[in-house]
Amino acid sequence: ASGYSLLRDPRHNKGLAFNEKERDAHYLRGLLPPACEKKIMHNLRQYQVPLQRYMAMMDLQERNERLFYKLLMDNVEELLPIVYTPTVGEACQKYGSIFKRPQGLYISLKEKGKILEVLRNWPERNIQVIVVTDGERILGLGDLGCQGMGIPVGKLALYTALGGVRPSACLPVTIDVGTNNEELLNDEFYIGLRQRRATGQEYAELMDEFMSAVKQTYGEKVLIQFEDFANHNAFELLSKYRSTHLVFNDDIQGTASVVLAGLVAALKLVGGTLAEHTFLFLGAGEAGTGIAELIALEMSKQTKAPLEESRKKIWLVDSKVCVNHKFGALNTHTMYSFSATLCIHSHMAYLMQGLIVGSRKESLQHFKKPWAHEHEPVKGLLDAVKAIKPTVLIGSSGVGKTFTKEVVEAMASFNEKPVILALSNPTSQSECTAEEAYVWSKGRAIYASGSPFGPVEYNGKTFVSGQANNAYIFPGLGLGLVISGAIRVHEDMLLAASEALAEQVTQENFEKGLIYPPFSNIRKISAHIAANVAAKAYELGLATRLPRPANLVKYAESCMYSPNYRSYR
Ligand code: NAP
Ligand code: MN
Repeated sequence: ASGYSLLRDPRHNKGLAFNEKERDAHYLRGLLPPACEKKIMHNLRQYQVPLQRYMAMMDLQERNERLFYKLLMDNVEELLPIVYTPTVGEACQKYGSIFKRPQGLYISLKEKGKILEVLRNWPERNIQVIVVTDGERILGLGDLGCQGMGIPVGKLALYTALGGVRPSACLPVTIDVGTNNEELLNDEFYIGLRQRRATGQEYAELMDEFMSAVKQTYGEKVLIQFEDFANHNAFELLSKYRSTHLVFNDDIQGTASVVLAGLVAALKLVGGTLAEHTFLFLGAGEAGTGIAELIALEMSKQTKAPLEESRKKIWLVDSKVCVNHKFGALNTHTMYSFSATLCIHSHMAYLMQGLIVGSRKESLQHFKKPWAHEHEPVKGLLDAVKAIKPTVLIGSSGVGKTFTKEVVEAMASFNEKPVILALSNPTSQSECTAEEAYVWSKGRAIYASGSPFGPVEYNGKTFVSGQANNAYIFPGLGLGLVISGAIRVHEDMLLAASEALAEQVTQENFEKGLIYPPFSNIRKISAHIAANVAAKAYELGLATRLPRPANLVKYAESCMYSPNYRSYR
C-alpha cells in the first residue's frame, strides 16, 4: 500500500506520530510536515462553539481513529459534553447539514426484505455491540427521525473510549420508518424518509426482520442496545426480544442502574436505607418507571418484602390529570384544545401534571399501572411534593425548568438534605440547574444532573455536582456481557452494575457532596462494572465463555482496547 492511502485509512493512520523509520518504510517521506507531535487539544480549544468542536472531533474520528480515542480518553471530562450530551443533541438537530461522510447503517422501510444484504454491506464481520435507534425520542428533543443517528454513533464512541470495546466491533444503526416531525417533513434537505412514521404491523415487521438478520449475521452473542425509542415502542420491543436476544434498553434499564447507584451512594450522605426513603418522580415514561422498578427490586432484596410493598414507597407524576370520571385522564393535547383560550401555555404544563393514583388506573398505560397507589388526585408537581413529602425528587420528564424555586424550597422545608436528580437531557431540558438546586435549598441539596454543570459558588463554598448519566453504566455493562459471552441480560446484572458503580465513590468524592465518581477514572470503573456483571452472568448460568477467568477485573482490563499506536515495521 502507498503512504498516501495509509494516511487516509483512519484505522491505521498515525498522522504526525509516524516516526522517522516508519516514514521511510511506508513511503511517507514528504507527505507529512516534519514535526512529530501536534497539540491537537490546543487546536480543538480554539473553537468557541461546542458544535464546531463536535465536528472537529468527528473529522478526527474519520482521519485517525486511534488519536480520536486517545484524545477522548485522556480528556474525558472535557470532551464528553462534546461527543455526548449536550452537544450531540444539537448535532442531531442539525445532522443533515453537518455530516460529511455517513456513519453507521441506515435501515429504512425501503430496505424491507433486504436487511441481510444491508448488513453484508458493512465492512466488519466481527460485531460485538450494536446501538440502534428509530429516532423517535432523541434525548428530550423529541422526534428527529433519521437524524437520530448521532446518538448511536456517540454511544458507541463511549463503548470504546469508556468501556474498551474495539471500535471495529461496534455498529451504529438507525431504523428509519419516517418521522412525525413536521419541520423535518417540510424540510427539503431532510436526509430521511419523508413520510409519517409507520406503526403497527409494518413497524413490527421491519424490527423483526432486523432482529433476526442481526442474529443470523453476528450470532447469539452480539449485544443490541435499544436507544431513544419512544415509550410506546420501547417497552414492547424489550419484552418481545429479551428472551430471544442479548438486548437491553438503555433508557429504561441503563438509566435505572446508574440512578440506583447514585441513590445508594447518596444514602451515605443522608442516612437511612432505601426502604426508609420516599421517592417522587416527575415523568413516568421509560426512565421514570425503569428507575422506579429497579429501586423497588433492590428494596425488596434488602427487606425481603414483596415487590408490591416496596413499590408503595415510590410515586410518579405524569402529564395527565383526572379531570372527571366521565372523561377519565385527559392528555395535554385534548385539554389544550378544550381550553386554549383560557390558559397560557406555560401555565398549562402545570395544570396538566398529575400524581398517578388508583382512581386513574383504568386509563393508564401498562407500565404505569404498578405505580397507581391509593391517594386522592393531586394536580401539579408542587402539590404532589407537598402531599407525598418525598426525600428524593427525580426529574425524568424531558421538560426543562420544571423544578421551580417553590418545588426546591418545599423539598428543603421538610428534608435536611433533599436529594434532587434532574435527569433530563440535554442541558436545555434539565429540570433545574445545579446553581438553582444549591441556591434554592441554601446549599443543602444533594444534586446530580443528566447533562453536566460546572462547579457552583454559594455562600463562599464550592459545590461540585455529579452527572447522573447512563454513560457510567452501559460501557462497563456491555464489556461485562461481551467478555463473559453472555447470551441474555438479566435484571440482576443491572443490579450488579449498579452496585459496582456505587462502590467506586470514594470518601473524597463524598466530602465534596458527590454521589458519582469523576469520569476521569471511568476506565477503571468500567472494568469493575464489567467484572461484577460478568460474575453475575456466570452465577446465573448465562455466560458461555468457559472456563470462568479467576480474576474478572484483571481479565476485563486485559480485554480493553487501548488506542496506543502500533509500531509499523
Ligand atoms: P418518555 O418515555 O417519553 O417519558 C416522559 C415522561 O414525562 C412521560 O411520562 C410524560 O408524561 C412525562 N411528561 C412530559 N411532559 C411533562 C410535564 N410537563 N409534566 C409532567 N410530566 C411530563 O421519555 P424518557 O425515555 O423517560 O426520557 C425522559 C427524559 O429523560 C429525556 O429528557 C431523556 O433525555 C432523559 N433521560 C436521561 C437519562 C440519563 O442518563 N440522565 C437516561 C434516559 C433518559 P405522559 O406519560 O403523561 O406522556
Ligand atoms: Mn437515551
